[in-house]
Amino acid sequence: MIDTDTVAATLTARLDELTHRAEDIEDDLRHPLEADSAEQAIDLADDEALAGIDDVIRHEIAQIRAALARIADGSYGTCTACGEEIAEGRLKALPAATRCVNCA
Ligand SMILES: [Zn+2]
Repeated sequence: MIDTDTVAATLTARLDELTHRAEDIEDDLRHPLEADSAEQAIDLADDEALAGIDDVIRHEIAQIRAALARIADGSYGTCTACGEEIAEGRLKALPAATRCVNCA
């Protein structure tokens, strides 16, 4: 049986980290460089890369929030597809996993 208190603490710490990183990226996106056009072009390319990173972070934030909700309602660690328990080793590697290794 997995220790959900420990998982929740780990996920909450990770959520804080991701939230701060997303805020930093948003700050970067909101302050474009006032420079010559060559530097602006580079800045635009950077912004596109940052927007891509932001999507990944947002996706992970959503997964972590969902995992914390499952811990709160007691369904954490149960496969959403077959209803079997997800192996502890899998949850340690992927704390936000919603499916067992067979259904993933
Ligand atoms: Zn399953």
